[in-house]
Amino acid sequence: MYQVDENGFYGEFGGAYIPEILYRCVHDLQTTYRQVIESEAFQTEFHSLLRDYVGRPSPLYHAKRLSEKYGAKIYLKREDLNHTGAHKINNALGQILLAKHMGKTRIIAETGAGQHGVATATVCALMNLPCIVYMGKVDVERQLPNVKRMEMLGATVVPVTSGNMTLKDACNEAIRDWCSHPDDTFYILGTASGPHPYPDMVARLQSVISAEIKVQLLEKEGRDYPDYLMACIGGGSNAAGTVYHYLNEDRVKFAFAEAAGKGVDSGESAATIHLGTEGIIHGARTLLMQTEDGQIEEPYSISAGLDYPGVGPLFAHLAQQKRAQVLAITDDEAVRAAFELTRLEGIIPALESSHALGALPYMKFRPEDVVVLTLSGRGDKDMDTYLKFSEQK
Ligand SMILES: *Cc1c(COP(=O)(O)O)cnc(C)c1O
Repeated sequence: MYQVDENGFYGEFGGAYIPEILYRCVHDLQTTYRQVIESEAFQTEFHSLLRDYVGRPSPLYHAKRLSEKYGAKIYLKREDLNHTGAHKINNALGQILLAKHMGKTRIIAETGAGQHGVATATVCALMNLPCIVYMGKVDVERQLPNVKRMEMLGATVVPVTSGNMTLKDACNEAIRDWCSHPDDTFYILGTASGPHPYPDMVARLQSVISAEIKVQLLEKEGRDYPDYLMACIGGGSNAAGTVYHYLNEDRVKFAFAEAAGKGVDSGESAATIHLGTEGIIHGARTLLMQTEDGQIEEPYSISAGLDYPGVGPLFAHLAQQKRAQVLAITDDEAVRAAFELTRLEGIIPALESSHALGALPYMKFRPEDVVVLTLSGRGDKDMDTYLKFSEQK
């Protein structure tokens, strides 16, 4: 019911709205990806690298002091412990194996905070493939350590100066590049958005998260499902991985956090599901923040990874069907939650993940509830922001 249909739709959301020139390569991808991903050869190589290179399975950690504070049994799914510091590597690794299988010789990607760019540059170094990463000029300046990391890994980082010079503009530029090199180039998209098959492909590659949660919960709780799954949503890739194997299990409730920035009604937010209306962005029909005449509104969030005016079509559908509860968490709430986790558990979370933690005070748990919250990344890249914020208070 919540899986993609053969045309790439989740209910009324999704599809592939692409320029004519990309038709053939998107069509090739649509007809190839499942067959390759489900093949034994792909699965063997993918899982061997996930284990020995990424460091999977990531731990499912019972956060006792956090649990005590919120009155439920809270587990953290530790994607922050992966190689390169976030869940993005699962997807980058899967897509590069697919690119190799399809005979592509040139890799491009977009990035906001730089986490997806670093993950892509990393797997390109591993596989000896040239890598070009498009990044808004504003993001290049505010995420310089990640730019240096990508360059050290051998990638070319191209600063994008159109629009407000952030993630949306980097996506536009990556798509433009793909249009000029459709034959040899594979576009590694970093989240569960974009034209079909990207949302489903990314969800499948990230679904290792929920596959592991099942095994780990069975071992720790004697049942393979929680009462709640929680995650933050930018485009929705860590959330998709977290819920993938539970989509049709009604006894498992989903709570997602999107970025409210300075407040949902402040005019400075990225709360796409709360504020968005239906439209088409980067090849998919979904909810997006737009003006009455269809111009995309500039999003804002303290977290570069959530600073995007659209959302993956699966999440527009889950929210519309009321399968998921979606909370809008402000910058302040997220930062407060980051300091709380740091002091309670000794874990510094990424700003994006802190939005999921910031949703905990709004939840109405029963003491016996088992909650799994995905900690999508670690906070090293966000130290400047955390320090600046705590000095202001
Ligand atoms: C990119 C990123 C996100 C947001 O992307 P999703 O596709 O929604 O998961 C969340 N957390 C971290 C650490 C990220 O790097």
